[in-house]
Amino acid sequence: MSDYTKILVAVDLSDDSTNVIQRAIAIAANNNAELHVIHVIEPLSFAYGGDIPMDFSGIQDEIQQQASLQLKRFGEKHGIAEDKQHIVLGRPEVEVHSKAKEAGADLIVIGSHGRHGLALLLGSTANGVLHGAGCDVLAVRVGN
Ligand code: AMP
Repeated sequence: MSDYTKILVAVDLSDDSTNVIQRAIAIAANNNAELHVIHVIEPLSFAYGGDIPMDFSGIQDEIQQQASLQLKRFGEKHGIAEDKQHIVLGRPEVEVHSKAKEAGADLIVIGSHGRHGLALLLGSTANGVLHGAGCDVLAVRVGN
């Protein structure tokens, strides 16, 4: 079996992200692979758009600025260059698939809580990423 060449790590920027990235860094080192990290911001309008007649643009900008800053710090801490840090708007599972395809990733690494949804094995995002992925997916057990 050939080595992985490009690994995409999806992080929600919670404390669990450290476990996920550390596992990915170890795999990247063993495979001599390039490591990319993605954080997806879910637009507020996805959750509230139809229900609350309000302009979310100011809050949305603030969320995006904070998330960019956090991802930058996360990247610096774990030695991931800025051109390999990706921040996008959308639904995590959709955007992770799309970035993996665009970057030519052959492995996606995500965290899995095993808390909700098909719960006992995978969390909802992990489950969504696994289904329909065009490459291998590693679900790193995080949290409780
Ligand atoms: P969840 O299913 O929401 O518990 O999330 C499990 C894993 O999915 C996280 O550890 C991340 O790897 C990934 N994930 C969740 N939300 C995001 C997000 N907004 N952007 C990127 N990855 C995410």
